[in-house]
Amino acid sequence: MSTHVGPVDVDALRARLDRAAAAAAIAGVDALLIAPGSDLRYLIGAGGTSFERLTCLVVPVGGVPVLVVPKLEHPGYADIPTDELGVDVATWVDGEDPYALVKRALKGNRTAVSDMMPALHALRLRDAVSADQVLAGPVLRELRMRKDDTEVAALRKAGAAIDRVHARMAEWLRPGRTEAEVGADIAAAIVAEGHVAAEFVIVASGPNGASPHHDLSDRVIEAGDVVVVDIGGPVAEGYNSDSTRNYVLGEPRDADVWQTYAVLRAAQQAAVDAVRPGVTCEAVDAAARDIISDAGFGEYFVHRTGHGIGLDVHEDPYIVGGNDLPLEPGMAFSVEPGIYLPGRWGARIEDIVIATADGVESVNNRPHELVVLPT
Ligand code: ZN
Ligand code: ZN
Ligand code: ZN
Repeated sequence: MSTHVGPVDVDALRARLDRAAAAAAIAGVDALLIAPGSDLRYLIGAGGTSFERLTCLVVPVGGVPVLVVPKLEHPGYADIPTDELGVDVATWVDGEDPYALVKRALKGNRTAVSDMMPALHALRLRDAVSADQVLAGPVLRELRMRKDDTEVAALRKAGAAIDRVHARMAEWLRPGRTEAEVGADIAAAIVAEGHVAAEFVIVASGPNGASPHHDLSDRVIEAGDVVVVDIGGPVAEGYNSDSTRNYVLGEPRDADVWQTYAVLRAAQQAAVDAVRPGVTCEAVDAAARDIISDAGFGEYFVHRTGHGIGLDVHEDPYIVGGNDLPLEPGMAFSVEPGIYLPGRWGARIEDIVIATADGVESVNNRPHELVVLPT
């Protein structure tokens, strides 16, 4: 029997550490320097964030990983089975030099620092440890992009939880309420339905729907509005949901809504249907974009078709023109084309899908249609 760190088996974490070191060797660096964040969570199961005192996991090629951590923050890492993982712990107290501890754990001086390490630490590591720095993201991406069964299970759980929130939309979304009021109710439901937090809540009504990253405002929702609802957050395992559905309050005000929405629906379905191993990310993007462009709305689809998802809401692989990465089983990402008509209305349909051995699995299963809610 082995200990679990959250949902992840210690054996699985130890394998990740080994594969990370192997990937570092292939990338031509001597060690990975990993700050708190999703990379650290991926490798040793530790949550937490970076502070002004350095916390850093050193993963050397062909050596023992060392977790450098301030003594006063070490209790936060007490649940991490460092012994079983084969990770040494080096604590430090105020007045000591933590960067020297990092240097001591290294065999060579070519390092890869995690993408989200604060510059405060990255630049000091550059000065004190090694000027030969690259980003660790491209190294760890090779591991994190391909989800194992445990990760896929967590993404399914997150997908089902956010589907339950969308299923309840009629409880909150009606004319006379502001986007902010509706958003507060949705945020509470995101947690009630099984997430640990509401990471983002977009309620974009009427003309606000034409702005893809609108979040919430004090606009009062009116009868006839099309409303874009894009919501998500992490479940206990750390993996995120992200799903967009579209609602209309009574009959849509704009006469072109039904016809344009049908184009969007066909585009989203075509992109989902295109997903299978060997197909490139850019081909999935093109499957949606071609349908939208052919219908004359190309200039109103102003973003990529999707993004990878896992411990981060946005991560590799990106479903975008120019990305010729072929899909592999276990890659998880959003398929979320949109059509945005400035000053009038917009819509986006978003599912999280996972490439399987012979096709695609969607973790979101609510209907794609424009849902009519009572006024
Ligand atoms: Zn986004
Ligand atoms: Zn989204
Ligand atoms: Zn998304």
